[in-house]
Amino acid sequence: MKITLLTGKTFDIKEELGIDIKVVPSRSLHKLVLKIDNKERIPVLSVPKFCSRRRAVSFVNENMGWIMTTMAKLPPIKEFENGEKISLFGENVVIAHSPDARCGVRKENDLLIVSGGAEFLHRRVRDFIKKQAKTVLLSESVSMAQKIGCKVNDVTIKDTKSRWGSCSGLGNINYSWRIALAPSYVIKYLVAHEVSHLLHQDHSSDFWKCVEELYPEWKNGHDWLKKYGKTLYKYK
Ligand SMILES: [Zn+2]
Repeated sequence: MKITLLTGKTFDIKEELGIDIKVVPSRSLHKLVLKIDNKERIPVLSVPKFCSRRRAVSFVNENMGWIMTTMAKLPPIKEFENGEKISLFGENVVIAHSPDARCGVRKENDLLIVSGGAEFLHRRVRDFIKKQAKTVLLSESVSMAQKIGCKVNDVTIKDTKSRWGSCSGLGNINYSWRIALAPSYVIKYLVAHEVSHLLHQDHSSDFWKCVEELYPEWKNGHDWLKKYGKTLYKYK
C-alpha cells in the first residue's frame, strides 16, 4: 500500500514492519495514533503531517506487543460449514455439502447444495451469495428507484466491512455481500437508504422522508443493522 502523505512523501511501511497495516495521513493530529480496526481486522496508524518514516516504523515496532495481543482478542472469523443454517435474502437455508453432486452450488427448496471438496465449501458458498446478491439487489434497487423517478446505473457487490452500502451521484450503488445474510426487512431498508441517496447525497430530513416513502417500516431494519449488523462480519 502506498500512501502519499500531506507533505508529499510516499509512505509505505508494510514491508519494513512485516505486518499488514493501514497508514492514514492526518491533518489534525500532532502525534502518531495506533488503533485496531475491529471490522477489517487490521492495525491503523494515523500519521501527523510532519512525521518521518523512521519515527512511524519505530512507533509501530514499540507497540507490536499491544497490536498482537489486541488482534488475538478479536472474535474468531468463521467459514460456512456443512449443516449450517443461514438466512439467505430472508429465507432459511441449510448448507448441504454433497461432494459428488457436480452442481457447483444449487438451491433446492431449503437446501443449499454445494459440490466439490470440503476445502472449497466456504469460497463456493460465498461466491454464490455474491452472485445472487448482484441479481437480487440490482433488481430491488431498480424497482425502488423507479418509484422516485431515479435510475440505477449499476450495482456492485463489495467485500468491505466499513459500510453496508454506498451510492455515487452517478447512479452506481455498492452493497456489502454480507447483507444477503440479514433478515429481508433489513435488506429492504438498506436498499431504500441507498436509493434515497440518488436524490439526496446527505442524511437530511428530506433524505429520511424519502426512505420513509420507499419503505415505511425502515426503522426496524435500521435498528437491526446498528445492533446486530456486526454479527455478520464473522464470516470470512
Ligand atoms: Zn447514507
